Amino acid sequence: MKYSGIKVNIYGHTSVCPMCGEGDFDISPRDYCPSCGSPVINKCADENKYLENGWAYTHPSCNSILDSNARYCPFCGNHSIFFWYEMLDHWKVEKNSISYSELDVLRKELGR
Ligand SMILES: [Zn+2]
Ligand SMILES: [Zn+2]
Repeated sequence: MKYSGIKVNIYGHTSVCPMCGEGDFDISPRDYCPSCGSPVINKCADENKYLENGWAYTHPSCNSILDSNARYCPFCGNHSIFFWYEMLDHWKVEKNSISYSELDVLRKELGR
């Protein structure tokens, strides 16, 4: 399966802000929406992690530009900025919804 993402142009930017609808970012590309502050390009994000003794540290972003459906960076394992801003559903949520609809199709085929 392929998880859903946010529609982006060839530069990896959304054309308009996916949260508030601001702008034409095809003409003036930017990393964040100037109206609501949401990210408009999916990148690897800094991530706070914890050592076994409970101490927190920041695993810095590797600054990669990611696919618009990436929840995590495939290069360093940090979360993506779209996921951090809750613009993408957790894969488990999405996987469940897909398996439920597949179940519905199966039920109809079986006439239940
Ligand atoms: Zn916005
Ligand atoms: Zn990364």
